Amino acid sequence: MTINEIKEYILDVPDFPKPGILFKDIMPLFEHVDVRNEVLNHLISKAKDFKPEVIVGIESRGFFFGMLMAHALNIPFIPIRKKGKLPGELLSQSYDLEYGTDHMEVQSEVITKYKRILIHDDVLATGGTCEAAAKLCSYDTNVTLAFSFLMNLTFLNGEKKINSFTENISSVLTY
Ligand code: AMP
Repeated sequence: MTINEIKEYILDVPDFPKPGILFKDIMPLFEHVDVRNEVLNHLISKAKDFKPEVIVGIESRGFFFGMLMAHALNIPFIPIRKKGKLPGELLSQSYDLEYGTDHMEVQSEVITKYKRILIHDDVLATGGTCEAAAKLCSYDTNVTLAFSFLMNLTFLNGEKKINSFTENISSVLTY
């Protein structure tokens, strides 16, 4: 299956969730098992080079392939969630979205067990979300990060916000 064939399963939805946003709907990828497996194989082969100790998935669409990657690599999965969803001691970080602002949180006792962390999300857009996730995971100078995306909307220059954390930034699809 070619990259262009995979792209046929990502729908462009104009003006969702706000006017002016061209929303990339990835739900058909989950419905079509062959395509889902193909995407997962791409994500896994890129992630394997980094040899992560843990996959960190960003709420909420980073959970889908993030958990599948963790399962395939037989390593732990940690969720970064929006404010107020996780119990216990938390690290917290504010961030800007392509469409709004929010806070994200991670359980501090869990994330601080790991030093080689792969952060996964579905879409790299302006990079604000992933920058905040990277700040949460950079709790110590000995942490090494990598980023894995299903797609990079390169025209929004999101890489500029995260390339100070690592050069290890990969995406299956680019637009
Ligand atoms: P950003 O912080 O601008 O890089 O936005 C990334 C986050 O917003 C990801 O978690 C995506 O799920 C979501 N997102 C941003 N732009 C889009 C888009 N055009 N289509 C689908 N999801 C998007």
